[in-house]
Amino acid sequence: MSHPDSTTSPETKAKPWWQRIPLTLQIVIALVAAISVGIALGAGNPSPSNAALINNLAIPAELVLKALRALATPLILVAVLHTLMTTNIPGRAGRRLFVLLLSNTTVAILVGLFVANVLRPGTWGNVVTSTTTQITGQSLDPWGLLKDAVPEAVLKPLVDNNVIQLIVIALSFGIVLRGLKSEQIAQGKNAYQPIEDVIGILFEAVVRILNWVIALVPFAVFGIVAKTVAKEGFAPFQSLGAFIIAVLVALALQACYYLTRVKFGSWVQPLKFLAGGSDAFLTAFSTSSSAAAMPVTFEVLQTKIGLRESSAALGALVGANFNNDGTALYEAMSALYISQLIGQHLSLGQQVIVILTSIFASVGAANIPNAGLVTMTLVFTSVGLPTQYIALLVTVDWFLDRCRTAINVMGDMTVSTLLDGKKPRFVDEA
Ligand code: ASP
Repeated sequence: MSHPDSTTSPETKAKPWWQRIPLTLQIVIALVAAISVGIALGAGNPSPSNAALINNLAIPAELVLKALRALATPLILVAVLHTLMTTNIPGRAGRRLFVLLLSNTTVAILVGLFVANVLRPGTWGNVVTSTTTQITGQSLDPWGLLKDAVPEAVLKPLVDNNVIQLIVIALSFGIVLRGLKSEQIAQGKNAYQPIEDVIGILFEAVVRILNWVIALVPFAVFGIVAKTVAKEGFAPFQSLGAFIIAVLVALALQACYYLTRVKFGSWVQPLKFLAGGSDAFLTAFSTSSSAAAMPVTFEVLQTKIGLRESSAALGALVGANFNNDGTALYEAMSALYISQLIGQHLSLGQQVIVILTSIFASVGAANIPNAGLVTMTLVFTSVGLPTQYIALLVTVDWFLDRCRTAINVMGDMTVSTLLDGKKPRFVDEA
């Protein structure tokens, strides 16, 4: 989802000195400090007298996770409403766009689940799970899912954190508001404007609160890593390393899939696509935000790759709002990884639920740093996985977020390129 520009906000102007240290560096400092504290507290052999202290180290991570869970539903709701009210999607191309987005996202999730099932990163390390967690989640019941898609009350999905119901509500209101807006424009009225402004401001507000929470992530990382090292030593990190490798392998496979589609579905040569798009990929990697990369993506699609403006706009400006393949892949893999880690394997039916909810969660994920981490809480809830384990993923999210954002942008560029078709622009112009 696009987000209102906050670069000129007064908040960003007068930052205290600690906020001027890049978040990545803050997290690295937190990791180093946490490892030292964890070693001092026992590195796997903690003394019983420190038990309470060690357990309390997890409090910042618990608070951050609670806040992320609480923000997930409002973020998705206002982001979907905002995009539907403010973007311009032409009818026929819009349908083609929809098919491309859905197929690419589904492939991304299948790639993620395939790699996670083959490499089984959650089993590469001997993790002692202190909680006796049982997955209480559903097995697959397609009719049940269908019956459950409509909530009993409009605000209930916000309370239950039910992502499918939430998207149903968000899309219904979004489509209706969009229709009302165009009717009013046709009649020369502008009564829709205050609603559009309120939604824009609410979106900005949720994003700002999310930024506060993100600012606390280094404390969460410190606490959870120090606690884990103190209690269980370094074994859990072995499996986190395996998880990072597995995610990178899956993202690389997804990139190969894009290049294959570009080769056979458009006039653009894959090498030209890669070289021309490099500025956009690098911007996405360095900012962790496909929204921040959006202007660069739009520009390189036209100037370096040579697409028509209409195709560039549909993929880079519209598709980018709904299309987060890297995020979808990551959310599905995370669910499977944590289920392996705690020894509660997800059945095929539950993996299908993960696919469905990851599609919805990625549609609702805003194009901003760590948004995938926020909506992931909803994927976990859908299959009854304990969300407290997301705390472990917080420690590596700063890096994996960059990688999946680059793939999100590559996915948008692939959609633009496919929409451009098999004839280059200059053939039209000749
Ligand atoms: N940071 C990603 C993006 O901007 C979203 C995510 O967190 O997965 O595309």
